[in-house]
Amino acid sequence: MRETLHIVGGGMAGSEAAWQAARSGVPVVIHEMRPKVGTFAHRTGNLAEMVCSNSFRSDDDERNAVGLLHWEMRAAGGLIMEMADQHRLPAGGALAVDRDPFSESVTERLRAHPLITVTDEEVTSLPTDGHWIIATGPLTSGTLAEAIRSETGAEALAFFDAIAPIVYAESIDMSVAWAQSRYDKGETEAERKAYLNCPMTKNDYEGFIDALLAADKTEFHEGETAGYFDGCLPIEVMAERGRETLRFGPMKPVGLTNAHRPDVKPYAVVQLRRDNALGTLYNIVGFQTKMKYGAQTDVFKRIPGLQDASFARLGGIHRNTFINSPTLLDAQMRLKSRPHIRFAGQITGVEGYVESAAMGLLAGRMAAAEILGRDLPSPGPETAMGALITHITGGAEAKTFQPMNVNFGLFPPIDAKGGRRGRKDRYKAYTDRAKTTFNEWLVGQG
Ligand SMILES: Cc1cc2nc3c(=O)[nH]c(=O)nc-3n(C[C@H](O)[C@H](O)[C@H](O)COP(=O)(O)OP(=O)(O)OC[C@H]3O[C@@H](n4cnc5c(N)ncnc54)[C@H](O)[C@@H]3O)c2cc1C
Repeated sequence: MRETLHIVGGGMAGSEAAWQAARSGVPVVIHEMRPKVGTFAHRTGNLAEMVCSNSFRSDDDERNAVGLLHWEMRAAGGLIMEMADQHRLPAGGALAVDRDPFSESVTERLRAHPLITVTDEEVTSLPTDGHWIIATGPLTSGTLAEAIRSETGAEALAFFDAIAPIVYAESIDMSVAWAQSRYDKGETEAERKAYLNCPMTKNDYEGFIDALLAADKTEFHEGETAGYFDGCLPIEVMAERGRETLRFGPMKPVGLTNAHRPDVKPYAVVQLRRDNALGTLYNIVGFQTKMKYGAQTDVFKRIPGLQDASFARLGGIHRNTFINSPTLLDAQMRLKSRPHIRFAGQITGVEGYVESAAMGLLAGRMAAAEILGRDLPSPGPETAMGALITHITGGAEAKTFQPMNVNFGLFPPIDAKGGRRGRKDRYKAYTDRAKTTFNEWLVGQG
């Protein structure tokens, strides 16, 4: 008799993990607390419920990283993609989904599988033995979150994300920005040049504050509280408190000398900090925001040096339970302190339906392989799934770890010429390379 895989949470990640493990011949129990215990965002007792938008974003698998993730999940026989395709709605190049039939059909398929059992119970503690995947998502119930917190330490579990926008390094204008840490602090040259700085004149600053105050903002969801604000005020709220607040906060111009114009003291400075080991992504320090996405691009492009910036992800502040995966998980998504427990989905610090399902797919396959006595390495970082898992389990900066969408900045770079045409060709080169590597990974599993 094969050992059973227990999955806590039947959302995007848990559903896909269950499907993948059961397809490998491993019995699965899904422990899903709904409909007995609800969350502020879910409305039904269905598995894989889409809590907000009905979009799986771009379906372009040649030039878009999330489209590539769709491709990889289809190639791996993913249930979430199969059902999304079955309930697709017209939406141009995006994959929009008819949400209720989608989650109903995922639920039916899982319940109908002879190796899968679904129980409607809330898991309230960390299991001490067996094979487990915790995929309880951004709205993990309070008791389980407390149990995770006492295992990992308070610092390693967040209840909100406060995401500052992330910019592709290649799109920063280095004829305007320069690399320098405040007061040249640091033991090594790399540390002394850890930040990129964008200088502002008084005029730039005043225009920026006006744009910030006028920008469209999003409201909090019902059930979200603003109690977390103490340490991470959105920049627009700081600006509302006073026009000079930012200049005395994240935009203070002290300890920095403009390498291009050493004789001119900047009135304010926007700093960007390296966000991944590859050095392809930078986050704008202290710029968490509730501005709407369109407004963010307009406002941030006013920053000198970022006029042509491309954003790997925009900023946001959300209710979101997630662990510090780079310090807590091994490359197999196992909790280092209790290796019989894996984590998957949004709780690992990926962001979005598709990314969460993809991490469920990997966790389900890895857990099943372990039960079957096989070794399953993760797909290489050249693939979308591999790039994500590499990022969360080690590639990301642990100190500033915040949830991440899939994007080409997570992939090992490919050399190609810049410019618009060049960039499109480069994305195609990324996806061609990924598909070859992903197919090899699948073939390697027999
Ligand atoms: C308000 C809100 C809006 C969002 N909007 C979007 C969006 O528009 N687009 C997008 O791509 N992403 C969005 N997200 C992120 C989205 O939640 C994730 O992308 C995705 O659903 C995460 O998948 P998951 O499987 O990790 O978690 P979920 O899909 O949330 O699944 C987790 C499951 O675990 C269950 N659970 C929790 N605790 C326990 C427990 N102790 N015992 C048993 N079961 C438990 C929950 O009931 C849930 O079914 C949003 C998130 C929130 C909170």
